[in-house]
Amino acid sequence: MHMEEQTECVSLPPQGPPGPPKCELVCIFGTGDLGRSLGQRLLQAGYTVVFGSRRPHSCGPLPQGAQVKVHAAAAQSAKLVFIAVHREHYDFLESLRAQLKGKVLVDISNNQKKDQYPEANAEYLQRLVPGASVVKGFNTLSSWSLLNGPLEGKQVLVCGDSAEAKQGVVELATRLGLSSLDRGCLSSARELEDIPLQLFPQWRLPLRLAVGLTASFFFYLLIRDVIYTYATQGKDVSFRIVVSLANKVFPIVSLIMLSLCYLPGVLAGILQLYRGTKYRKFPDWLDRWMLCRKQLGLLALGFACLHVIYTLIIPIRYSVRHTLISRVVNEMKNNNKSTPFDFDNTEAWATDSFYMLGVLGFSLYILLGLTSLPSVGATLSWREFTFVQSKLGHLTLLLCTAHAYLYGWDKFLRSSTYKWWTPPGYMLCLVLPTVVLVLKLLLISPCVERSLSRIRQGWERGQSEGAAWGPAGGPGKSIHL
Ligand code: NAP
Repeated sequence: MHMEEQTECVSLPPQGPPGPPKCELVCIFGTGDLGRSLGQRLLQAGYTVVFGSRRPHSCGPLPQGAQVKVHAAAAQSAKLVFIAVHREHYDFLESLRAQLKGKVLVDISNNQKKDQYPEANAEYLQRLVPGASVVKGFNTLSSWSLLNGPLEGKQVLVCGDSAEAKQGVVELATRLGLSSLDRGCLSSARELEDIPLQLFPQWRLPLRLAVGLTASFFFYLLIRDVIYTYATQGKDVSFRIVVSLANKVFPIVSLIMLSLCYLPGVLAGILQLYRGTKYRKFPDWLDRWMLCRKQLGLLALGFACLHVIYTLIIPIRYSVRHTLISRVVNEMKNNNKSTPFDFDNTEAWATDSFYMLGVLGFSLYILLGLTSLPSVGATLSWREFTFVQSKLGHLTLLLCTAHAYLYGWDKFLRSSTYKWWTPPGYMLCLVLPTVVLVLKLLLISPCVERSLSRIRQGWERGQSEGAAWGPAGGPGKSIHL
């Protein structure tokens, strides 16, 4: 459940304690939802706010303390103007070119869908008002969050061609309690406009995977457990679909997803060892996979939680109670001492160990999930975070894999396990975690681990001895793989 995320942007330097507003008077064109929320926040931060409206006398209630004028008059004395109007209505700004000359225009607009217009809204605005400096920004905030939520910790992304204009917007954002991220020139505006249109982009692949795995294993187990029983014994056990089958699918998907969460890290390590350097970019598919490890892990945790809940209801299920009572009745009727009711010490060890591994594995699972929350992760040092996510993460995978192996116990060798010559689901799901754990074991074996950590500290194969200095080694210590 790794949380590292790549960003191509540059964090702007901290602005220090906010001083008095540099740009005292701020103008907002548009008295709609966003205009009003922004106006309210600006007033709270000590700015004077003047709204520019088509109908200043009938534009509805505005934040207390704000003035409202026609556009030209409102823009006159403000250096910074927020354009809180939909892009479709920007054409009126062309007639205000003279009044807006030399001003900073903040384009906060968004679109309904990607590539709705041939050019970004902010670039269009710049074309309409060439004498102004357009800055794209604030479009990733909603009017609701401006009005209700605390803004501390929230971020505005800005881009624009004038560094001075951007600086003015960044200072204003800082005074509102927002942090800022410079995304470069105005040509990046489209990227910023696309951000609010994203729908869980990093969840897409993990979700597709989860749905695909769930459906595949569900049908596989349906054939093995329900259709097979009907075909060979004529017994209808379709009721098993609802709980038994689901409770087999959930842990299978959970374990596979957890393995998929740790597999890319192992593959990356192998690739670095093979290449003898960490400075070559990973293939795109591996990069994308690494970036969604947190989502893979959280989905795996979700499936594990479902497995736990489904397991807890097993004793109250009618079919289970019926089977148990029938066995007791049969035992009493037959009074047969060699029934399975005789205490089997080995079986007791196996089941206790099975549950113990499950409980420990699930507890660590929860810990991984908790530390992947940004608020919790932020309280950990990088070393603590890596310890939990990597070391304890692999331990979780080990415990859960052992839990599944114990579930198989002596069934692996029984021919009746392989209905229609197919292995049971839990056996299939053990392949991937076993591969991941074996590869990880190889990577942490002393000689491989030493080579890998040197590569990760900057050493490159083929470097001259003199250049092979690195934090982990000195001259003559370079290891050839
Ligand atoms: P809104 O509630 O519809 O308000 C838009 C305002 O634009 C109107 O109140 C009106 O103000 C003005 N307007 C409407 N037609 C006009 C025209 N023909 N000519 C000139 N002005 C006109 O929209 P909104 O939700 O505040 O959104 C405003 C902008 O912010 C949009 O570009 C939107 O994409 C962006 N945005 C909104 C949110 C959000 O959460 N709402 C979040 C991010 C970005 P007057 O009647 O006073 O002229």
